[in-house]
Amino acid sequence: MPVPLTPDAPRLLNALATGSAALLQRRFWSNGVNQLLQELGEASGVSRVWIFQLLEQSPSGLLQDYVFEWASTTDYRQLTQKRFRFFSMAIDDPEYADMVTRRQRGDAHACIVSQLSPGPLRENLESQAIRSMVTVPIMVNGQWWGTLGFDDCEREIAWEGSGLQALTIAAELIASAIYRHQLNSRKRQVDLLQRVAACGAWEVNPASGATWCSSGLLASLGYPQDYARLPLRRLLAHIVTEDRLTLWALLRQCCGVCNSSCRVDVRLIDLQGNTRWHELVIEAHYVSCGRLAGIAGLAIDISQRKQGEVQAQTEAEFDELTGAHNRRGMVRYIRELLESRKCQRPYLLLLDIDHFKIINDRYGHPAGDTLLKTLAKRLVGELRPDDCLVRLGGEEFAVVVGEMGETQVLQLAERLRCCIAEDPFVLDALPGIGGTLSACEVSVPMTVSLGVATMMPGESVGHCQSMAIAQADQALYIAKESGRNRVVAYWQR
Ligand code: GH3
Ligand code: MG
Ligand code: MG
Repeated sequence: MPVPLTPDAPRLLNALATGSAALLQRRFWSNGVNQLLQELGEASGVSRVWIFQLLEQSPSGLLQDYVFEWASTTDYRQLTQKRFRFFSMAIDDPEYADMVTRRQRGDAHACIVSQLSPGPLRENLESQAIRSMVTVPIMVNGQWWGTLGFDDCEREIAWEGSGLQALTIAAELIASAIYRHQLNSRKRQVDLLQRVAACGAWEVNPASGATWCSSGLLASLGYPQDYARLPLRRLLAHIVTEDRLTLWALLRQCCGVCNSSCRVDVRLIDLQGNTRWHELVIEAHYVSCGRLAGIAGLAIDISQRKQGEVQAQTEAEFDELTGAHNRRGMVRYIRELLESRKCQRPYLLLLDIDHFKIINDRYGHPAGDTLLKTLAKRLVGELRPDDCLVRLGGEEFAVVVGEMGETQVLQLAERLRCCIAEDPFVLDALPGIGGTLSACEVSVPMTVSLGVATMMPGESVGHCQSMAIAQADQALYIAKESGRNRVVAYWQR
């Protein structure tokens, strides 16, 4: 029997040096792998060099894919053959099982096919006309990722010594290229996620107070993207104080609940003092004894959504023409006023423009609208910032005011009446309307009647409000009946 050949170790080491340089320099790692396989194939003189990637493994078999190949001639090419695409191998042969166990451990395996015991492995290799083979597992981050293999269909080579060691180094080089590629992809994924979802990631070690913030989060807080260390105290100072208190309350609630997660909206202030709404997604991890081990999550920029919410609320609770609250806005205002307990007995003033139909008929509907807007502005000028002006509809308004005495509220109602009655409104001249002031302006005197009632907190805000409206309406009716341009309180009927 002829003595098997041994590989030419110096040539292999030389090939390794050239191939590894390619692997480090190539922008696409797969091009670098292809070149390394070619250098090793040519230096060893084998028929084929290949890499299988391990996709799935179970005790009964393996699912692999043929991902890289160099072949000395086109006859030896196998990568393009369908049977090597996602191929499964059953582990029912002791010889093959032994080979798999070695690969899992990270050990190389070499064989001369004619010396193998008869069985499926030998048959398989013979069916590919392989005379000798060596395989080295590619271990990525401690896990069997795939296999680097050399098939020789012409010679029986005994792979051992420095030649075999060169292949082991090649597998390690490939593994580190794969690992680098995986890290790069992950970093790119995180960057992409941050850009697409406008979010940043963060982590806090509660024991040491150490923090980590993703580059996106650092940038949105106004720091350089590679800022080295942001102490916990400083990181927390970026949350608006009021929201930080909400956050603490929430964390206390979640505290101790095994690996709990929660979400909260907070305002983050950047180094320039700009504030933006963020949703914090918080994941807390506990160790078995219930001690908080880590807390991490995302900060998602939701300022646009918040803007939308504010706009939607404005549209839902304010009158478009005059900017005053509408009925829905009034309900919320009254509820908040009563709930805040700042005021036990608010007052409701109903205000209706006198003979507005005549004004409207005379000057036209658009001029009527302008007058409604100007009237609302005058009323707001007489109110405190916390008081609430409401347009109930048409030419009817309401004013809700907080704590004050009966005398004061009547004085306020009187002030409102006067601010409308004492100065006529001025309209730009409209076609067909004779001006009295100048060629381009007309003066429109207007008056309002007011009915005043007290809001008695009852069973519900709705009930309290309807009672007050009904009472103020009765008072307003009397004001109209008794000549208009006057104030009547419900308790004065
Ligand atoms: P009174 O003193 O009894 O309140 O008389 P009035 O004419 O003000 O009351 P009436 O309820 O008879 O008519 C209200 C008028 O208000 C009818 C309509 O022309 C006018 N009006 C209601 N809503 C609007 C509005 O949005 N824009 C304009 N320009 N006019 C409106
Ligand atoms: Mg009216
Ligand atoms: Mg009316």
